[in-house]
Amino acid sequence: MLQTAQDRSDFAQSTGNAVVNIVGGGLAGSEAAYQLAVRGISVRLFEMRPLKMTPAHKTGNLAELVCSNTFKSTAPNSAPGIFKTELKELGSLLVHAAPAAQVPAGKALAVDREVFSREVERALLATGNVERVNAQIESIETLPEAYATIIATGPLTQGGLASFMQSLSGGHGLYFYDAIAPVVDASSIDRGIAFAASRYGKGGDDYLNCPMSAAEYDRFYDALMSAEKMEFQDFEEARYFQGCQPIEAIAETGRDSPRFGPMKPVGLIDPRTGKHPHAVVQLRIDNLSRTAYNLVGFQTKLKYPEQKRVFSLIPGLRNVEFLRLGSMHRNTYVCSPLMLEKNFALKSRPDTRLAGQITGVEGYTESSAIGLMSAMAIWCELTGRTWALPPRASVLGSLCHYLFHSAPESFQPVNVNFGLFDPSLFEMPARRMGKSDARLEMGKQSVRNIVKWRDETGWMPRPWNPR
Ligand SMILES: Cc1cc2nc3c(=O)[nH]c(=O)nc-3n(C[C@H](O)[C@H](O)[C@H](O)COP(=O)(O)OP(=O)(O)OC[C@H]3O[C@@H](n4cnc5c(N)ncnc54)[C@H](O)[C@@H]3O)c2cc1C
Repeated sequence: MLQTAQDRSDFAQSTGNAVVNIVGGGLAGSEAAYQLAVRGISVRLFEMRPLKMTPAHKTGNLAELVCSNTFKSTAPNSAPGIFKTELKELGSLLVHAAPAAQVPAGKALAVDREVFSREVERALLATGNVERVNAQIESIETLPEAYATIIATGPLTQGGLASFMQSLSGGHGLYFYDAIAPVVDASSIDRGIAFAASRYGKGGDDYLNCPMSAAEYDRFYDALMSAEKMEFQDFEEARYFQGCQPIEAIAETGRDSPRFGPMKPVGLIDPRTGKHPHAVVQLRIDNLSRTAYNLVGFQTKLKYPEQKRVFSLIPGLRNVEFLRLGSMHRNTYVCSPLMLEKNFALKSRPDTRLAGQITGVEGYTESSAIGLMSAMAIWCELTGRTWALPPRASVLGSLCHYLFHSAPESFQPVNVNFGLFDPSLFEMPARRMGKSDARLEMGKQSVRNIVKWRDETGWMPRPWNPR
């Protein structure tokens, strides 16, 4: 094992071409592999699929999106929108590969998951520096010698590595639950009932909407409440990730909760009645050929036959064919404020880095961004540059700050959001600004700060843009 910086540097010099092992070819692993490989660093990418599958992945594709097919908003006054602009400036593979796979989804960046994976694989292949090894890794000790190893095995880390991850947080494994929403066949949706529209007419007819009257909603709600759910193991506590609550857990908080949550009818007029429906189930395009739609916000852990029974009560879905049913999975992460150095290396093993969701971020884009950070830190070391975390006055910097400075006892995974920002770090004009304008302004400064930091670090973006 290459323990010290000197060992690692000697190794890199003796090989003339440093090699990095990456375990896990998901969002973070693929991003890290690309960023290193495109800079001439050889990567061995260990991915177990399709030899072995996780409970959520369905293919052997790299960077598979396990649930929703969206990377969230692109609006310049939203945290996900600013975040993607920052990542674009750093040459993120995810942000540059997504447009080739884009499907219409209003202001959100949504993709055809198959095409997106294909694009990522093409980018990695084009570097000529990535060797994909199809194997489930049980222990990092068994990996071939390398300058460093990045573990990016994600929330569903399998086999012996899962126990290793558990042991990292002092035996008190941190976890929460993430759920998957069903996907239905487009041709089986009743278009006499489901109407195409986006909220407030923004985004054209990107969504299909299944409108419900008060009576239909009540019938659906009662069926949802009485449906059988998959149970957690006795020793497990139901800790859900906020924003990924199963629809039945939302319903348990009150009869109107779904109607004020994922089933809210605001901004939508049913063309059959000319009025707002009582509630709405939105369906989002799931693939470029528009043959599949997912049920927005309908993550669930109802038993499979119950999903078919209850969701078929939604007007427009009476005879729908389910291409994939919803499910729920345990999602593991480590306590980064305690376990990680600022270069994403384990304090206990400096040659082993972490990336992606296991560091305590949540979401496709966030996971990929930490893959980029982990790779960038390695590149800085190998090229003799000084690694410093991105500036706090940016979305990426705020996310990293959260990972390293949170109180360990209450550390929980996060999506990017304005709550991570410290507004006092931004120079705001003296005149009063509305919330939206203020966010737009902070967004502009964030992107500028990232570009400045990028240039000072000497990082030249190498975007994948084959077309
Ligand atoms: C059920 C579920 C639903 C989710 N839904 C969403 C969503 O809708 N939107 C969103 O933004 N985020 C969602 N997430 C959160 C998360 O951002 C994604 O899971 C994201 O893919 C994490 O990226 P990653 O690279 O860290 O892990 P992954 O993308 O999961 O990649 C990890 C890779 O490691 C491989 N692997 C695991 N163990 C081993 C091993 N021992 N040896 C070799 N390979 C191994 C896996 O096969 C996988 O390819 C969801 C998570 C879960 C669990």
